[in-house]
Amino acid sequence: MTNPFVPAVELGPCDIGAYRAGNRSIDYVTTFDSGKPGPHVMINALTHGNEVCGAHALCFLFENHVRPVRGRLTLSFANIAAYQRFDPHAPFDSRFVDEDFNRVWDAAVLDGPSNSVELARARELRVVIDTVDLLLDIHSTSLPNAPMLLAGTTSQGLDLARAIGYPTQVVIDAGHASGRRMRDYGRFGDPLSPHASLLVECGQHFEKSAAAVAIETALRFLDHCDIAGPSIIGLASLDRPPRQIVTRITEAITIDSENFVFEREFAGFEIIPQSGALIARDGDTEYRTPYDNCVMVMPARDILPGLTAVRLGRIVE
Ligand SMILES: [Zn+2]
Repeated sequence: MTNPFVPAVELGPCDIGAYRAGNRSIDYVTTFDSGKPGPHVMINALTHGNEVCGAHALCFLFENHVRPVRGRLTLSFANIAAYQRFDPHAPFDSRFVDEDFNRVWDAAVLDGPSNSVELARARELRVVIDTVDLLLDIHSTSLPNAPMLLAGTTSQGLDLARAIGYPTQVVIDAGHASGRRMRDYGRFGDPLSPHASLLVECGQHFEKSAAAVAIETALRFLDHCDIAGPSIIGLASLDRPPRQIVTRITEAITIDSENFVFEREFAGFEIIPQSGALIARDGDTEYRTPYDNCVMVMPARDILPGLTAVRLGRIVE
């Protein structure tokens, strides 16, 4: 079952053909090396093929001749095969080709016998990601949501989110039951590692503002990493929010059957005041708010077994 929400496509794909060759012998991956000591910083777009705002952000950086003044900067477009299938009449359909690219980032899966368009691409990109110190992975959401940083569960992720200071909403979450995300892969999911990653959700996929949020987040990320010169950092335009709101996810409701139905429509970051309020039913199972002031994070558009329906969280600061 699908939520009847069908948005206008204000923001569609942009032409990224010029970035195909790159310089890494991997299509659509470019690494600029300053030749000076410093971190390896990566900004990744199109983990999901229909989340086009990240492609706009990378095009913006290329067109403005971003170059690191220290360390290395990698710009990559991930799920190109899905992106190239984008159809404005069915804009949600190009999320992936065979499987979700953002659920395969486990060494056992990457080293395992399975094969898919997404696994093949992940295996290509893995050799690059294994050397990245700081990663920003740019996404957007199916339903309208305030932009948010997904900080994962490590303190490094939260520290990075606070240091960037944008956008306002920060979510501490452990990901999905159905597979590991790139932002949690290897060194990024290790609480003892000095490396850090962030996933940014820039708002609804096809809203024009998603591209502006993606660009702003990328610029502030580069500013924090202290690897880009003032000419590019000066292009940041939005005011820094006075303070961020941090929500810790305590549980995710995973859709078990096709009988799953939300009790009503919930808005992203809507706060349900009462503990015990009915959220959804799945056959005989009822899902209720487990505590007062429960925050509804990213309610899903697509109701399909195995997918996350909504995450429940508490505001912690
Ligand atoms: Zn995504």
